[in-house]
Amino acid sequence: MNTFAQMQLPSTLKSALNTLGFVEPTKIQESVIPVSINGLDLVACAETGSGKTGAYGIPIVSRLLEDTKKNALILAPTRELVTQISDFLRSLTVNCRELQVASIVGGADIRKQLGILKRNPRIVVATPGRLIDHLKRKSLNLDSTAILVLDEGDRMIDMGFAPQLDQILKFLPKQRQTSLFTATLTDRVRKLADKYLQKPERISVGRISLPVAAIKQSVIQTVIKDKDERLVDELNERKGSVIIFLRTKRKTDKLARYLADYGFKVSLIHGGRTHGQRNQAIESFKNGRSRILCATDIAARGIDIPQVEHVINFDLPMMDEDYVHRIGRTARNGASGQAVSFVTPEDHRAWQMLARKYQIKGVELVGLKRRPARRSFQP
Ligand code: AMP
Repeated sequence: MNTFAQMQLPSTLKSALNTLGFVEPTKIQESVIPVSINGLDLVACAETGSGKTGAYGIPIVSRLLEDTKKNALILAPTRELVTQISDFLRSLTVNCRELQVASIVGGADIRKQLGILKRNPRIVVATPGRLIDHLKRKSLNLDSTAILVLDEGDRMIDMGFAPQLDQILKFLPKQRQTSLFTATLTDRVRKLADKYLQKPERISVGRISLPVAAIKQSVIQTVIKDKDERLVDELNERKGSVIIFLRTKRKTDKLARYLADYGFKVSLIHGGRTHGQRNQAIESFKNGRSRILCATDIAARGIDIPQVEHVINFDLPMMDEDYVHRIGRTARNGASGQAVSFVTPEDHRAWQMLARKYQIKGVELVGLKRRPARRSFQP
């Protein structure tokens, strides 16, 4: 395998990679970088934590340095992901003042964004909604956008962004390179690719829809009324940082308060919190001020917090794929990690389906009652 130092990349980029401590490309980077540098469209499937941001970020920086007339646009489903991608791209471009990176997300001060856009950033990283606001206001012109990346394509579709993508695509030049990154290649993602990409290369690395093998998965059978106390026991027994996933904002708020009353240092993140609160929560979890992050599925994807040792599914996810994304917050980039799921009798069926679908071994439920015969729906 070629190291980054051996690749044909601009020296400023190589030195940024060196500062980041990136020596060799990850598998997805090894496959994607040559295709992207050559300007071809691609659909890439990769496991969580596989280094996909670098897989598209490195070629973008390289190509924009070589062609000063080109710009790039990256679309991602959540504000957190946009912030994280922008931070990573800024670390790749520290030595290149001509490559400004702008984050355009909803919930943030629009006047500040107007100021940033006036400076003609070469790379725009955005959530679809706010980007459309700017396109309508004509505060952003995408005529020179020669590179488009759709990150977490499956998630964007799940979150209902398809109409916004249609709108945005109308503002982009027909002549462009489009890359679609996705964790799962569902029919809807394939349709999206057919619509926007031209003869894309298909790249997939690892066992796409399955959790990474390094994650030790287990299950705790309990009942709803005992969940809180059982969680406290688990937290006391485990060392290191923990993300606890719940289904609703209200339950997340409540559990965070309960744990804080026990003396745990807790951060909280869900869609009902402001942009600033969400950033602050991630920051204090990242720098270790809080050991626990209580989160809804908004935090399940893409957020890169390297030191997460445990993921606890206090509630099972609504959508199966989120199981993989949630537990993918641990065991990133070769580290090990543990994922434990609380399963109440009401969850038995859902858990059995998850265990089958994701081939989770050694998590059979004990004391299962026979399922009652299916009743027909009585209006
Ligand atoms: P991502 O999947 O893009 O979120 O990346 C997962 C983690 O891997 C991040 O912490 C990256 O900084 C790290 N990473 C990505 N590429 C490399 C590389 N080539 N060498 C070392 N670490 C990397």
